[in-house]
Amino acid sequence: MKQELEGKIAIVTGASRGIGRAIALNLAAAGANIVAVYQQNKTMVDELAQEIEPLGRVCLAVKADVAVEDEVNALVDQTMSQFGRVDILINNAGITKDGLIMRMKSEDWHNVLNVNLSGMFYATKAVTKPMFKQRSGKIVFVTSIIGTIGNAGQSNYSAAKAGVIGFMKSAAKEFASRGIQVNAVAPGFIDTDMTKKLPDDVKTAYMEQIPLKRFGRVEDVAEVVRFLSSEKADYITGQVIHVNGGLYM
Ligand code: NAP
Repeated sequence: MKQELEGKIAIVTGASRGIGRAIALNLAAAGANIVAVYQQNKTMVDELAQEIEPLGRVCLAVKADVAVEDEVNALVDQTMSQFGRVDILINNAGITKDGLIMRMKSEDWHNVLNVNLSGMFYATKAVTKPMFKQRSGKIVFVTSIIGTIGNAGQSNYSAAKAGVIGFMKSAAKEFASRGIQVNAVAPGFIDTDMTKKLPDDVKTAYMEQIPLKRFGRVEDVAEVVRFLSSEKADYITGQVIHVNGGLYM
């Protein structure tokens, strides 16, 4: 039986760890070949490739800083020379540099905006040429609950993630006539390196507010991303799907 994403080529940014890693594994299990983009953790991407290859899929590891446009263009060029097409782009790579506004260094503001927002613009722009030519494609952004509800100490991150939602909706409108669907997933509190660094009292406070009474698992997010990347989601575009245990509804 043909798999859901059989033969599809998927670029996943931030695939070395956390949510991006789970997305890469999930898409590969559904039949996709993966371009796993990382910034520093080559060993972790090599380990990911060792898990993907026994599934009969190719996993091409590419180092690129998503905040640098030339590196993002080179990554899409490399994908095209290896596979000749791009079917799926998962804009997932992200960072936090938390701080209260009155003390926030402009460097931390710009870093977070550059990686979380500009990085997603560069990658989206870079795949337009192949996807427009193919007249098909799926683009999924990983935004955040914080882009919708805000958070004290995360003004840079919430501005970037809210920006991603606006950008995603504009792209959905621009690309619809080309057969490309563009959507976002907004995770709540997911157990990854990004959230491990939060103090215990902050985690306890979050837990008390989550109706489903647990933190999310990376697979909870990856499942939704796989669905949005598949033909089953052909009539869905410009949407934000919240995966947050009911923390925001
Ligand atoms: P994570 O565990 O910290 O992993 C971040 C990933 O992004 C790593 O693969 C990292 O690569 C990559 N990365 C960081 N900066 C990069 C850059 N400049 N260029 C290329 N890759 C870069 O984070 P996560 O929790 O999985 O988060 C993934 C996404 O989900 C982010 O967009 C985040 O904002 C969003 N999100 C997370 C949560 C949560 O609770 N965890 C909630 C809402 C939204 P290296 O390993 O090579 O450094």
